[in-house]
Amino acid sequence: MKIALLAGDGIGPEIVAQAERVLLYFKQEGLKIELEPGLLGGCAVDATGKPFPEATRKLSVEADAILLGAVGGIQYDNLPREKRPEQGLLAIRKTLGLFANLRPIVLYPELVNASTLKPEIVTGLDILIVRELTGDIYFGKPRGIEYRDGQKVGFNTMIYSESEIRRIAHVAFQAARRRSGRLCSVDKMNVLECTQLWRDVVTETAQSYPDVTLSHMLVDNAAMQLVRNPKQFDVIVTGNMFGDILSDEASMLTGSIGMLPSASLDDRNRGLYEPIHGSAPDIAGKNIANPLATILSAAMMLRYSFNEETAASRIESAVQKTLKQGYRTEDIYETGLRRTGTVEMGDMVLANLQSQ
Ligand code: NAD
Repeated sequence: MKIALLAGDGIGPEIVAQAERVLLYFKQEGLKIELEPGLLGGCAVDATGKPFPEATRKLSVEADAILLGAVGGIQYDNLPREKRPEQGLLAIRKTLGLFANLRPIVLYPELVNASTLKPEIVTGLDILIVRELTGDIYFGKPRGIEYRDGQKVGFNTMIYSESEIRRIAHVAFQAARRRSGRLCSVDKMNVLECTQLWRDVVTETAQSYPDVTLSHMLVDNAAMQLVRNPKQFDVIVTGNMFGDILSDEASMLTGSIGMLPSASLDDRNRGLYEPIHGSAPDIAGKNIANPLATILSAAMMLRYSFNEETAASRIESAVQKTLKQGYRTEDIYETGLRRTGTVEMGDMVLANLQSQ
């Protein structure tokens, strides 16, 4: 099993290094994996002038799975759009056909006080957001900024085909079937025709899943319900832009964006795994970033791409034990607990893996 390691920018190299140690631990135990580093994002622009260079494209296409840190940094913000790090991210998703983004939003009981919401609202929270990743307004054409009638106008196109909606709906229904059997589809059908089609196709797809209860919600209401009563949700399915925003909102229910992993899968469960946060340039190079989202992303990789459920669960248990022991990076620190750096957090997860 070949794994491409794309550490990226900012805190990327620091957090991926900790997840790499965890993967190497399993290699030592006999798991047949090969790790190969590559460049994506700003570091790739610096080295080659392109955010998604040919060598990385080749490595990614050949790999069975990819572990990504994060890309981006203020030094790249004024580059032409096609050279910006984020374009590398969009390009790799598109090239590999990674249309299904799974974001588990789980609150560890040990972190209940790190959430900005009251404990009774978030205790026991366990939601899965299924976000479509290769369509919608982020990719739709025409797009641009141009002069019309003597002034600049900016425009983008929100577009989904029936087949794009149907394939993500199937992923979501199957995920709901493995969980509590409840799926909520989020759209804005009262205003946007594109999402009227979304609702129609999801409703039609539901006929193949009589064991799953489907509900629909408008995105503005969903944003409100996520902070009012988040535990009403089990699996949420939505488009690329709504999913981007709602999953960041939901991440804060768990206390820190530094805790949440994600998987982006193609139709054969080949995937790219990454924390949902960005490159956090404000804390890069200080050994204070939380590596747990990246370590948990490696667990998702073992589960979804390599069918190594035992190894995945062992990582999750080791993370939970580390939290139980009171180790906390800055973002989840509470008075009285053990303030821990990025590398030390990796040390503790490894120690807890070894002692299982
Ligand atoms: P961000 O997620 O990088 O950071 C938001 C806040 O969360 C910051 O205060 C940061 O310090 C904190 N944070 C993030 N990850 C953390 C971690 N592991 N541990 C502790 N604290 C953490 O979002 P941003 O500041 O809006 O964006 C910074 C850069 O990242 C931008 O260039 C943006 O384009 C890029 N970005 C990349 C991705 C990606 O690679 N998938 C996603 C989002 C943003």
